[in-house]
Amino acid sequence: MNKLLTIIVPCYNEQEVLPLFMEAINPVIEELAGKMELSTELLFIDDGSTDKTLEILKEYHTLGTADSDEHVSIKPSQPRNNEVCKNIRYISFSRNFGKEAAILAGLKNANGDYAVLMDADLQHPPALLPQMYSELIGSYQALDSVAMYRDDRKKEGFFRRHFSSIFFRLLNKLSKLNLVNGATDFRMMNRPMINAIISMPETNRFSKGIFNWVGFNTKWLPFETGERPAGESKWSSGKLISYSFDAILAFSEVPLKICSWLGIIFCLVSFLIGIVHFIKTIIFGDPVAGFPTLYLMMLLLGGIILLFLGIMGQYLARIYLEIKQRPVYIIKESGGE
Ligand code: UDP
Ligand code: MG
Repeated sequence: MNKLLTIIVPCYNEQEVLPLFMEAINPVIEELAGKMELSTELLFIDDGSTDKTLEILKEYHTLGTADSDEHVSIKPSQPRNNEVCKNIRYISFSRNFGKEAAILAGLKNANGDYAVLMDADLQHPPALLPQMYSELIGSYQALDSVAMYRDDRKKEGFFRRHFSSIFFRLLNKLSKLNLVNGATDFRMMNRPMINAIISMPETNRFSKGIFNWVGFNTKWLPFETGERPAGESKWSSGKLISYSFDAILAFSEVPLKICSWLGIIFCLVSFLIGIVHFIKTIIFGDPVAGFPTLYLMMLLLGGIILLFLGIMGQYLARIYLEIKQRPVYIIKESGGE
């Protein structure tokens, strides 16, 4: 029996790129089946799209699973070679839950001995799958996962490039994670690793951190992301910044430790200043002066206390969300098992 690879593709409003994706993935699926004796299933996660994404996915599903001698007319926008996409499944969320939720749904519902996560917009080139698979199974090191990092950051905008390299460095410093600069979610892994990931119960999911946290042997390969051929990126700068905060708060307690340490330092300093003033008054009889210092210190301390309360509040809010045990996503409908 051939091994099975599940190709998980989160899609949020991707009606323009889906036909291009199918066109690109079909020959790769054929190559995997032919050269490497690897069967594949495509598992699309429609993350609450508001365009025709779900309709298109349903069409692919019926086309792909249709009996091979049954006549189906294929429009140009549809996959031409329906011979090779027999295994097309979809899961559709009741609303937009975000890419992290889509990744979890994909991994939970994958039937494969292996799974690969990839974007629908062809920025994760399907042509790399055979190489990833042969690294994964053919390596001497008994790999569990082959992950890809971006090697073409120069093409990105100034803000995004610098912001993301600062983010990776900061996160590695503040947490026990060790993420490669430019790490993406484009990753192929084996069943034990998939099972480890889906056994993590947290609702606030930062996948890159989870992949790293569960351990296993991972090999990192560089790749170049192309331009998005159609549609647009779903990430605004604001979304990226809040995603980064979420990641740091999910994997690091350092912000809380900073609060405590600064608290201790302030106490010590004020104690020392107190002694100095005491001696000055007793021995030299200096009059008390320095009201500006006084109110500036009050403002500073008030500010710091509020800031730290805010940081604690952020953790508290996350505890509150986790404790509610809400599902990470809600499936409205699905096709294929
Ligand atoms: N995506 C998703 N849910 C979202 C946002 C994005 O499933 O809320 C999917 C999107 O359809 C694409 C992938 O995640 O397949 C990457 O998104 P995008 O290309 O917008 O991100 P970028 O490449 O700009 O980081
Ligand atoms: Mg993209």
